[in-house]
Amino acid sequence: MTNIKATNITWHEGHVGREEREKLLGQKGVLIWMTGLSASGKSTIAYTLEHALVQRGRLAYVLDGDNIRHGLNKNLGFSAEDRTENIRRIGEVGKLYVDAGIITITAFISPYRADRQIARETVGEGSFYEVFCDTPLEVCEERDPKGLYKKARAGEIKGFTGIDDPYEAPEKPELVIDTSKMSPQEATIALVEMLEKAGKISALGE
Ligand code: ADP
Repeated sequence: MTNIKATNITWHEGHVGREEREKLLGQKGVLIWMTGLSASGKSTIAYTLEHALVQRGRLAYVLDGDNIRHGLNKNLGFSAEDRTENIRRIGEVGKLYVDAGIITITAFISPYRADRQIARETVGEGSFYEVFCDTPLEVCEERDPKGLYKKARAGEIKGFTGIDDPYEAPEKPELVIDTSKMSPQEATIALVEMLEKAGKISALGE
């Protein structure tokens, strides 16, 4: 799916650059890439962080796995090839959001290391923060908010990450969060601190 099919296309530079947009917004465009098993807390933390940032006057936006699969990626399933294409598209969309100056948070299982590496390279080192929701499988399975683990164990869903499909943990994530030990609020504080330290936002309240 990554083959280039369009010909006679030219890249157009606009008159307004990323820096100008970032100045306007008072923040740096950044992509916070949440990865981890289903029910590890990616979406919950992503939306909590988005809320906290917007409440403090920062423009943040969540790209959520299930939501994106309703639209942009609705023609993709869960085969290895489709998972790769799912992540490739999100990397490309994320790159546009970051260029727009937005604090972008993605919540996708994104189980394959190589796919996340491609997203990192697409967005660019320094703008990409891989956050590993390292919640034990037993905890995720116990939560099972959508009943998916139960179905996977019963063989009703095939190729479910963590059950009969692999999850390749990040080797050098920028942040690790174990939601069996940290509340969404605590995780949000850790993420905000990470953004502040990296100079992506000034200390909140300023
Ligand atoms: P994912 O996006 O990784 O599939 P979700 O955020 O959709 O995960 O689901 C995580 C579930 O775990 C939610 O039902 C949430 O309420 C629950 N949960 C319990 N404790 C936490 C925590 N500390 N952080 C995040 N989610 C938690």
